[in-house]
Amino acid sequence: MAVLFRGARTIDRDGPIDVAVTGHQIAEVGRPLEARGREVVDLDGALLLPAFVEAHLHVDKAWTWRPDLPALSLREAIAHWKTVKAHHTGEELRRRGRSLLDRLLRFGTTAARTHADVDGYVGLAAVESLLALRREYAGRFTLQVVAYASSAMTPRDPADLRLLEDAVAMGADVVGGVPNLDGDPRACIDVLLDVAMRHGRPLDLHIDEGPPRAGVWVEYLADRVLERRPAHSVTASHCCALSAVSDPEASRIIEKIRAAGISVVACPTTNLFLQEADAADPTWRGVTRIRSLRRAGVTVAIASDNLRDVYYPYGQGNMLETAWVAALAARLGPREVPALLDMVSTEAARAIGLGPWGLAPGAAADLVAFPGDAHLLADRPAPLLVMAAGRWVISPR
Ligand SMILES: [Zn+2]
Repeated sequence: MAVLFRGARTIDRDGPIDVAVTGHQIAEVGRPLEARGREVVDLDGALLLPAFVEAHLHVDKAWTWRPDLPALSLREAIAHWKTVKAHHTGEELRRRGRSLLDRLLRFGTTAARTHADVDGYVGLAAVESLLALRREYAGRFTLQVVAYASSAMTPRDPADLRLLEDAVAMGADVVGGVPNLDGDPRACIDVLLDVAMRHGRPLDLHIDEGPPRAGVWVEYLADRVLERRPAHSVTASHCCALSAVSDPEASRIIEKIRAAGISVVACPTTNLFLQEADAADPTWRGVTRIRSLRRAGVTVAIASDNLRDVYYPYGQGNMLETAWVAALAARLGPREVPALLDMVSTEAARAIGLGPWGLAPGAAADLVAFPGDAHLLADRPAPLLVMAAGRWVISPR
């Protein structure tokens, strides 16, 4: 498909621009561009953005919220999930997954990294179902599947390690796990980094989701990455504990994260909901040091993590909503809206290792447009159009 978007407003340019798409890539950006046989879409000042990217999701858990299982802590949510997850695999999981991916597309999200539980409760069923969805949605939604060593297993155990390696061998894109909830976080990080390096996969860890008393393990992760220099990317999801250590300690850790080239994914919706859920009045804001990390040059993404499951009962599947919650949690004002939008699109794409993303020649033809006069994070309007890999998801009226 060849399309010419004319007269788009953008976040970072003063005047309107034209954007030409050929196949699944942006071919030209400038003003004025000639139609040259392309389908012309007159945007007339509408805001054109790179499509949104969910850098951290659990598609296998989505839509499993149950009113009889309210979680008052992360550990309680994990316990609830153990009681329900074995019933949520196979075709049932794929049905919920389709419902979520279709919804994400309608809100302008065209790519996501999903974690898929691997443990004795579900075996390889979640990975298998999500790999099937990845195939089913190829060409219209980019789905990365993380073989996620869940808290119900330990990769330090030989049988659990075999299961995790089987999940990777089946075709999972990324290796994941949750060292803070392992009996030996250091050894857990070592084993998972080793699996990722041996299989030539990126590593994406749930790390420091809880308070600092549970440990600040991202520093150990950064030390090991600096020492072993894996060829593939390393992502640290959550890193909430970083917000509760002293400023000098945070600076030291952030410098190591930067030097190690580790990307950070903040998941403010789930963290705000679960942290201190059992306190009379929660006081901890539960989001990492987004400003300091970015200022240091670390790639930071904002992601939704959970959607209407036993961990988090809310969520629309709309990245503008997630970015808005991040703005509140990290106190980012209207002048920082461009940065917030970057963290749910271009930076998120970089964090999970997608190809070029953004309004530039050679970048993916994954685009979303909104009414030009909307205040995106206050109005959170529906997209006027959505394009995924050069194909219409929502075509212009
Ligand atoms: Zn997660």
